[in-house]
Amino acid sequence: MHLVMIGGSDAGISAALRARELDPAADVSVVVADAYPNFSICGIPYYVSGEVTHWRNLAHRTIADLRATGMSLRLDTVAQRIDVPARKLLVTGPDGAEELIGYDKLIVGTGAMPAMPPIGGLGGPDALGAADGVHLLHSMGDTFAVMRTLEDTAPASAVIIGAGYIGLEMADALTIRGLRVTQMEQLPEVLPTVDPALGALVRDELAAHGVEVLTGTTVQQISRAHAGQAARVRVDAQAADGAAVSRLADLVLVVTGVRPESRLAAAAGATLGVRGAISVDTGMRTALPDVYAAGDCVITHHRLLGQTYLPLGTTAHKQGRVAGENALGGDREFAGSLGTQVVKIFDQAAARTGLRDHEATAAGFDPVTVPSQADDHKAYYPGSHRITMRVTGDKQTGRLLGLQLFGHRHAEIAKRIDIAATAIFHGMTIDAVSDLDLSYTPPLGSPWEAVQMGAQAWTRQSSMAGISGPGPAIIPSQAG
Ligand SMILES: Cc1cc2nc3c(=O)[nH]c(=O)nc-3n(C[C@H](O)[C@H](O)[C@H](O)COP(=O)(O)OP(=O)(O)OC[C@H]3O[C@@H](n4cnc5c(N)ncnc54)[C@H](O)[C@@H]3O)c2cc1C
Repeated sequence: MHLVMIGGSDAGISAALRARELDPAADVSVVVADAYPNFSICGIPYYVSGEVTHWRNLAHRTIADLRATGMSLRLDTVAQRIDVPARKLLVTGPDGAEELIGYDKLIVGTGAMPAMPPIGGLGGPDALGAADGVHLLHSMGDTFAVMRTLEDTAPASAVIIGAGYIGLEMADALTIRGLRVTQMEQLPEVLPTVDPALGALVRDELAAHGVEVLTGTTVQQISRAHAGQAARVRVDAQAADGAAVSRLADLVLVVTGVRPESRLAAAAGATLGVRGAISVDTGMRTALPDVYAAGDCVITHHRLLGQTYLPLGTTAHKQGRVAGENALGGDREFAGSLGTQVVKIFDQAAARTGLRDHEATAAGFDPVTVPSQADDHKAYYPGSHRITMRVTGDKQTGRLLGLQLFGHRHAEIAKRIDIAATAIFHGMTIDAVSDLDLSYTPPLGSPWEAVQMGAQAWTRQSSMAGISGPGPAIIPSQAG
């Protein structure tokens, strides 16, 4: 049995590891376009900031570790065409030579590409790029280009276009490096994956660390600055009221989302779904015989929404593992995503899982969202932090549909969102969350865990008429 994976990131490597784990006799080849298999691209911002001191430290496993599992790595090798009837993959190797690789089962893990927004100066023959200090950020190659700009030109200022989680992490990273950062976002608030009430808290944290935040600001043009101007590049934008906004910067980062890299599979005849991602069933099978796909290149099965596109590293790992097992004849299913995610912004963290109010309405639920606050541990013990919550539940059934959290980076925001993710995964009601037997000691928690206090605030408020909530219900610390 010869298994071939295309892509050496979270999905492709997870598939290869699982296949080798299940069948040490399986012949597993991983075709990777670059020389950086199994790198944690999620860690790029922390290498750029200097907190991770060497790019090699971002490797989940070294090349030697991977080879020791028995997989064979074909680095700097680009998959060009899949011949489905012949079960052959045409690749171009490091020396440019073409080769046909036969397979019994193929797993496509080609991931995502940075989305290119319609901004003048980013396309065409005279497009600005890394040599001008204008960067995208997705691969290790992009990272090295950013680092060259930082180390060779010592930029004093940066404009980050986009205030999603990667844009925010990079605002944090570049500020740590000493750059003056302006963040431009066309939507009305930063971190649009959470409600504006929490986005506003994220914005406050950015501002507190000196980041200039310009929301409702649509970038239209990036151009080379004129000789004599104080920076290399000029960014022109339009504010929500129509006013012209322009900033000069030495470095520009365009981080406005990703699109699935599904072209190879599509050319072979795979069916595409949401946002042009490869359609797969929950066993990660494409419509093509003996061809599986996983990760950012495929549609996402969501436990509450059905099919969507939600590219995340956690999901890519799980899907890759399922694909690797099923390619060997297994019958594993990807259990579905809830879009659980967390981001650190300087000293704070924001997280979400499940659905927000408008998403729940669109999915046919009858939601109510109740804001509340609680302490991460007993306030009498030093170092406690207030956590801001938004609990979304279904009015008819009391089912927990979503949770959003904002609080100090040491307030266990990530693990607290995971309580809700687990509860939603298992279809629990909000009342039942309040019944969970969770741990407590004053320096680390409260007799009622913060998420349970949020659950109780929801139950209290949703039992009243008219719900919509006047403002955060601050729940006093319980005795204990
Ligand atoms: C800066 C940053 C921070 C992130 N932070 C987080 C986070 O905190 N949490 C989280 O859950 N997710 C995070 N993500 C998202 C996460 O990294 C991705 O969801 C995940 O890497 C997807 O893995 P993948 O294997 O599907 O695709 P990718 O990582 O996109 O990898 C695709 C692979 O396919 C290869 N490839 C593509 N085309 C070909 C071809 N034709 N031939 C051969 N090889 C090919 C590429 O070289 C690469 O190896 C972050 C992403 C970035 C960029």
